[in-house]
Amino acid sequence: MSDLAIIGAGICGLRCAEVLRPAGITVELFDKGRGVGGRLATRRHEQWRFDHGAPSLHGETAQWCERIHSYHDWDCDNNARHYLPELGVNQLAKELAEPLNIQRGCQIQSIERRARGWSLIDQHGSEHGPYAKLVITAPCPQTQALIKTLDTPIIKALADVHMTPAWVMMLVTALPIITTQELRPTHDVIRRVSAEHSKPERALGPEDYHYVVEAAVAWSQKHEEDNPTDVQAALMASLQDITTDMGQLLHCAVHRWRYAHTGRALGRPYLFDSDLGLAVAGDWCLGIGAEGAYLSGEALAKMLLNSGRH
Ligand SMILES: Cc1cc2nc3c(=O)[nH]c(=O)nc-3n(C[C@H](O)[C@H](O)[C@H](O)COP(=O)(O)OP(=O)(O)OC[C@H]3O[C@@H](n4cnc5c(N)ncnc54)[C@H](O)[C@@H]3O)c2cc1C
Repeated sequence: MSDLAIIGAGICGLRCAEVLRPAGITVELFDKGRGVGGRLATRRHEQWRFDHGAPSLHGETAQWCERIHSYHDWDCDNNARHYLPELGVNQLAKELAEPLNIQRGCQIQSIERRARGWSLIDQHGSEHGPYAKLVITAPCPQTQALIKTLDTPIIKALADVHMTPAWVMMLVTALPIITTQELRPTHDVIRRVSAEHSKPERALGPEDYHYVVEAAVAWSQKHEEDNPTDVQAALMASLQDITTDMGQLLHCAVHRWRYAHTGRALGRPYLFDSDLGLAVAGDWCLGIGAEGAYLSGEALAKMLLNSGRH
């Protein structure tokens, strides 16, 4: 029997595995995505790269800052230091994933606690396991769906956690639409515009203008089920409020994150049901974005090591 399975190879699951591995614990990760990193996502279109999940890495705690401070500074905000790997935020996830055993493109559709341990069943009906322990680091609603038939106090503890969606738009324009690295306008529809070409080592030339536009939380909630064409049209129309002339539009695409941000957090770094050998973790535990996801995975791994019962 393997020691431990982790569902989700976002920053939380990756950090958890990274801490457990040197202790000789056999860890297998599963992610439904083609790559790793979850919402630390960088999408490529032709020569352009868009960080269309978290736009940069930032935070305060010593262990997270130690992890990110070797990357380049991105001077987008006077109040906090932001860091970025040259290839985009997803590079951090790829670096963590390097030595780990990860099954990509593997969506776990159900989990079962049997006498021999945990079994995971994927989208093709294939079974993985058994594992002595199971860690789930999917966004809270997806975690709830996986554990809903189990008899565990974790279900009740997650009842108040709330996550919110975000529509984002990636665009390339012939003229600049903002004059700063990042703009957070006071606007009903647009929450933030990030100039991707202003990120370290990312400009493709003096007249390269590519952006990620993130829609406001309330607007994204209201339009969560709209079709992408309508969303794109609405976001483009709203951009007229903050820019005069963007010139020719060279590329435009939208993406919906159904669970982008934490509206109401759990307030603890993880939950562990020692009877079942089941833990849940993720950014929604602490509610401070990528830093919180990292701390959640790390705290859970340390608890598992200290409990000495893996
Ligand atoms: C638009 C946007 C803007 C953001 N801005 C910021 C910001 O400015 N600052 C900040 O700190 N954070 C920001 N964030 C949040 C940050 O990206 C997240 O907090 C962090 O990346 C979450 O990491 P995680 O590991 O908890 O979850 P995720 O990254 O979501 O990882 C969970 C993984 O689980 C996988 N998964 C889910 N269900 C299954 C299943 N059944 N089987 C297999 N795999 C599964 C998913 O594919 C995913 O890879 C932003 C996010 C978005 C989307």
